[in-house]
Formats: sequence, C-alpha cells, structure tokens
Amino acid sequence: MRLRHRVALAAGCLASLAVATATPEAKESRWWKGNTHTHTLWSDGDALPDVVTAWYKRRGYHFLSLTDHNVLQQGDTWFPVSERAGSRLRPEQVTAAAEDLEASFEERTSGDTRDLRLSRLAELQERFGEAGRFLMLPGEEVTSSWRSPGKDGRGHPIHVNALGLTRPLPPASGESVVDVLNKVLSTIAEHGDEEGLATVAHLNHPNFGWGVTWEDMAAMRRGRFFEVYNGHRSTNDLGAEDRPGCERMWDLANVRRALDPTLPLLYGVATDDAHHYSGNPVAAPGRAWIQVRAEALETQALLRAMNAGDFYGSTGVVLEDIAVDRGDGVGTLTITAAPREGEELTIEFWGARRNADGGPVEPELLGSGPGPELNYTWTPGHLFVRARVLSNLPHPDPGSPGEVQAAWTQPVRAN
Ligand SMILES: [Zn+2]
Ligand SMILES: [Zn+2]
Repeated sequence: MRLRHRVALAAGCLASLAVATATPEAKESRWWKGNTHTHTLWSDGDALPDVVTAWYKRRGYHFLSLTDHNVLQQGDTWFPVSERAGSRLRPEQVTAAAEDLEASFEERTSGDTRDLRLSRLAELQERFGEAGRFLMLPGEEVTSSWRSPGKDGRGHPIHVNALGLTRPLPPASGESVVDVLNKVLSTIAEHGDEEGLATVAHLNHPNFGWGVTWEDMAAMRRGRFFEVYNGHRSTNDLGAEDRPGCERMWDLANVRRALDPTLPLLYGVATDDAHHYSGNPVAAPGRAWIQVRAEALETQALLRAMNAGDFYGSTGVVLEDIAVDRGDGVGTLTITAAPREGEELTIEFWGARRNADGGPVEPELLGSGPGPELNYTWTPGHLFVRARVLSNLPHPDPGSPGEVQAAWTQPVRAN
C-alpha cells in the first residue's frame, strides 16, 4: 500500500515519523540561516574573527562557522599589528574594531613590535552567542593536497570543511586524490563516533585548482556533502570548456552513487568561503548560504538535520517547504517557495533515470515549471530527483554575468 503521509525530508523514514508524532511536546522545526565556510586572521582571511562574526550576526544569519585552514580558534595566537606594507592588521583596523564592537583586545608590545591576541572560539561564542538567535558552530578547513606523479605532475588541493569538532584534526597524505579524501573523511567521521557527536564534513570547491573530479566525488565513502556553490571567485564553480561545473559534477557523481547501494547520495551546500572583509571583491561575504530545518538553534540539532538532508543552499531564493511523499517505487518531491516582492520563480527537477536499453545513464532535466509550488512524481526506473529554483532577480554580487539568485535542494533516492 502506498504511504500518503506528507513527511519532511528529515523524516523520510517511518521510524522518524513515529518518533515525531509520538512526542506531542516536540518543538516545531524551522529554517535557520547560516554560513559554514569563512576565514579570519586565524588563517588567510583579512579581518579579526570578531569583525567577521559581527558581519554575519548583524545581517540576520543564525549560525556561522569560522573555518580557518588546519586550525580551530583555540589557545594563544599573537598577530602583528603593523603599518608596514603587506600588513594584514593595521593599527587603525584595531581602533575601528574596538569602537564598533565596544570590545577591547589583549595586546603585548616589545620594542617597536605590537601584537594582538586573536579571540578564541570560546570567547567569540561568549560574546556573540545568543540562545535562539545566533550560534557559532566549531569548524576547520582541513587542508590537504596531493601531487600527481610524472613530468606533468601537479598539486591537487583537497579541502574539506569539518563542522562540530571538539579538537583540531590534521590534513592527510596518500596515494591518490580519493585516498587523501577518504582518509580525511574517515578521520572526521571517527572523531564524531568517538565523541558520540554528529559531525558534517563537506568537500570544498572541487574545481579549485582542478583538484577533485566528479569521479573522485563518486568514490567518497564516509563523506556525503560537497559545495555545489562556493562564493570565492577563483574556484571555477562553473567549470571550463572541457570540465564540468559543480552542479553537473554533483549529478554525474550521484548517478554512480545511486547505482551502488552502499553509497549515500551526495548533498550540496552553498557557502561564502569569504576571506575579504575590506572591499576586496575576490572572496567577499554574503554571496551564498544554507538554510537548515531543525527544532533548535543548537550545534547537534543543525548537524543532525544536515545529515538527514533537511537543508538547502541559496544565493537569495527562499523556500517554505520541501516535502517527500514516498510510495512503493513511486514518490513525489514537492517544492514550495516563498517569492519576494516582484519575484518570479522557476522550479526545475533534475535527476536521472535508468536507460531502457541498458546504456549509460545521463543526468537530465526531468521537468520544470513556474513557482511558487511544483511537484515531481517519480516512477520505477528513476535513480534520484532534486530541485533547483531559479529567480528572475539578479544576484546582487554576481560571480558571472547574468547570474540570478537560486536555491538547491537535496537529492532524494528514488530507487
Ligand atoms: Zn579551500
Ligand atoms: Zn576556504
């Protein structure tokens, strides 16, 4: 018999549904907006972590992860305050931050050198955290690379954001891109297992330095997230003449994963990867984010919801609901958007179907139509379905000419 329950993506199995309905006092889920990829002076960003955090909180974000390269913001790190050419922290920046944030910074001087102690994550959580309003999610960009052998050998950047850590984790080395990737992902997953905590690991900007291919993404074992949109302008998200863009890579990888029952489908996050808070446009903040549906603004609730696929990436488009109605070999994915003033939306369903003659499976546009609500019903033979919602509104800080605001929901396994 077909199930007719309208369930949230997170409650895609009956067990979750039963738990949800058996707890009458369960808190209602809602959407929380956050960015899971940002840099500060703790690595190669150009602003104090306090300034970065204030930037997001003031613009209504609910959560933020400062994901500096191979470091969690712990312990004492002294940063030079200097007028010298190339300085990343000038005296006037410290004065402006202290005034703007009504904060004081710990400093030390020796001779003519002046250093400022960078605020630790615990201090930032204390200063900016606010129950139900703003949460700092511990994060690190675990930054590895792999050099291919031979005379054409080159470095492949392999960057993975780890969210929900309690201690910093090291980068990895290995025999291949996939080997490095799987080692990093295993280390993060094992850390979560040891601590009994949900974690999220997302592969970042696969096309940055053409580091990671879709075939590598198809072979990721313990990770199930990647960046379908990265706001840094040097990450080749749209691909090149002979290389697929991130969205096509997502579908190609998921075709292969859908045909392997041991591999979960890959989910797509959208992030800023912001480095520049002082006007440099290369990696400016505010270009992309995720909305996570969870019952509370708490680290574990957010990370569990992400692992259940109950989130979407956005560069502006707002969704009200994502619902999956799953039957026996059939099912329906319904997208309900919340258009803003003057906004017209197009909802597209992307996915893949088995080829009737047994040939290779190609991802395809399965259907599309005007918003704000549209559904797609899959039938036997489908492998997966996901939605992309496009706005007529231009991106306010476009990465390419004509870029419009968009949202990406997570693929639903249909086989
Ligand atoms: Zn990176
Ligand atoms: Zn980064």
